Amino acid sequence: MYEHDVIVVGAGGAGLRAAIAAHEAGADVAMVTKLHPVRSHTGAAEGGINAALREGDDWELHAYDTMKGSDYLGDAPAIETLAKDAPEDTITLEHWGMPFSREDDGTVSQRPFGGLSFPRTTYAGAETGHHLLHVLYEQVVKRGIQVYNEWFVMNLAVTDEPDPNDRTCHGVVAYDVQSGTVEGFKANNGVIIATGGPGQAFDHTTNAVSCTGDGQAMAYRAGVPLEDMEFVQFHPTTLPSTGVLISEGVRGEGGILYNEDGERFMFEHGYANNDGELASRDVVSRAELTEVNEGRGVNDEYVHLDMRHLGSERILDRLENILHLAEDFEGVDGLVEPMPVKPGQHYEMGGIETDENGKTCVDGLYAAGECACVSVHGANRLGGNALPELVVFGKRAGYHAAGKDLGEAEIETGYSTDVEDETETELPITPGEAGIEPVSTSESVATDGSGQVAGGDALLEQAVGAERERVERLMEKESGTKHADIRSKLQNAMTRDVNVFREEEGLKRALKEIQECRELYQDVSVEDPSRTFNTDLQMTYETRNLIDVAETITLGALVRNEFRGAHWRLENQIRDDENWLKHTLISWNGGKPSIWYRPVILEGEDKTYEPKVRSY
Ligand SMILES: Cc1cc2nc3c(=O)[nH]c(=O)nc-3n(C[C@H](O)[C@H](O)[C@H](O)COP(=O)(O)OP(=O)(O)OC[C@H]3O[C@@H](n4cnc5c(N)ncnc54)[C@H](O)[C@@H]3O)c2cc1C
Repeated sequence: MYEHDVIVVGAGGAGLRAAIAAHEAGADVAMVTKLHPVRSHTGAAEGGINAALREGDDWELHAYDTMKGSDYLGDAPAIETLAKDAPEDTITLEHWGMPFSREDDGTVSQRPFGGLSFPRTTYAGAETGHHLLHVLYEQVVKRGIQVYNEWFVMNLAVTDEPDPNDRTCHGVVAYDVQSGTVEGFKANNGVIIATGGPGQAFDHTTNAVSCTGDGQAMAYRAGVPLEDMEFVQFHPTTLPSTGVLISEGVRGEGGILYNEDGERFMFEHGYANNDGELASRDVVSRAELTEVNEGRGVNDEYVHLDMRHLGSERILDRLENILHLAEDFEGVDGLVEPMPVKPGQHYEMGGIETDENGKTCVDGLYAAGECACVSVHGANRLGGNALPELVVFGKRAGYHAAGKDLGEAEIETGYSTDVEDETETELPITPGEAGIEPVSTSESVATDGSGQVAGGDALLEQAVGAERERVERLMEKESGTKHADIRSKLQNAMTRDVNVFREEEGLKRALKEIQECRELYQDVSVEDPSRTFNTDLQMTYETRNLIDVAETITLGALVRNEFRGAHWRLENQIRDDENWLKHTLISWNGGKPSIWYRPVILEGEDKTYEPKVRSY
């Protein structure tokens, strides 16, 4: 068994920033990660990081844009913290060596991004995330923080009191990809989950194969609610054949969208008369699909993104990476022809419910980054707002898990363990319907329903034993269903029915198919007999996580019968503030999901953000 004060699961932007902070606070910190840190998906971030750095801009404008972008489903205290802390945390990155692009006078460049009232997206070419990872990893190496590379975390070691608010996390169980052994990692102070998003629940996504929602599913099974999972961002400019992202930076620099008839449809068809291509992502994605659905798409599938008029000098200076992506994945030369683009799954706005210090309802368990929902993005994330979230809330989670008091910064959000005022809702369709039961009720608690065991060591040993047994069961099974078949059924259902446009019938169909995936999973087997580098085994674990996460996305979407941000519903195409100004929370409760709601916090430090009609 390995032992540290703080264990950070995941080494993307959020995990690295959290580890640095925990180390600064004096903790013995270690990172456990299934990928080498610089291979984390943060490396794919192209466009930039939002921070109010310039004269004429201020944190209040950033907060206002973020609240409006969230379609009034973000919590004001968390949004204000993001906007206030982002400038200092971005400057810290610069001091650590982040090679931000610069103007001729030497000041850091900032570009316009969708939904922003000021050009506040700071960037390093079109490779911002790549540089961010390298800069943060350098700091981790410099501090001598231990990194357990290519260790796949399978489960959390959490006690199993009946009320999740009484539970404690003592560590994690992980599989060493290189040796095939399963070991426990004890955390004396806390575990921080920073495992990124669940994009692989969809088959057309900008997310890497590693984005499988592992941390969200593990926290969920340990009793922590997942918040606002129905809000999935579909990015308007992904390459049709692969889902590879063409950064919003292209539109930020002046790129234009055209339909098959050569119309600049964002203006000519009235989707966003003021901001056009730089409207918020949900608005542009719906506009593109409407063009395609109404017969004005190119090849009935996509639209064109044209940047030729920017000139080769500017493109090569600021968007060179985009040229390579278009050429390599679509065979298109962006200097001489427009690029084909269509919406694709990009970001999960919801996640593990946390307060502003990353704390969950389980003692000793924290979360930060895309896997978490501190509630800054609400129903729609603004481009460039995920990277500041990683550094602002990653840092806070790291300090807090190490036991450092953040003084006045320690403001709680609406996170509450008291559910008296919160409404619980009947599920419209239950996992038991159609004769399909959840995978196993014994999966409901991270320790596998083992009962109370004295002390963290014993609990961890027990959790390790349970995972070793699970591995043996999976490996020894002679034949069964392949994880890849289950995963592809799941991805097809999600992409078909839980996409940009949603309706009750499709959502119910998707939910039924997700439940069928659960049933199929009971027969899953691992074909690869090797004990080392067994990606078959790892992906079998990941597929189980995707099933759990996909179910919460779909359930939340089915019950929320309104149109807000990225969540459009055929049956009710208006935002319904009277009934739906509230967060969805889904808990794994006694072997099945239960759903309940908590009001959105619109009161900031000095003002209340009154919901307004959201137009661009
Ligand atoms: C193509 C693309 C471009 C983007 N561009 C921008 C942008 O310009 N600006 C912006 O603000 N946002 C952008 N985003 C969003 C943003 O980049 C991501 O939300 C963010 O980087 C996620 O960071 P993270 O640290 O939460 O997760 P990740 O960077 O995905 O890291 C997750 C880590 O968890 C580890 N992990 C996962 N599961 C396990 C497990 N079971 N066991 C052990 N380790 C595990 C992985 O190894 C990895 O180290 C973009 C997203 C994409 C997909």
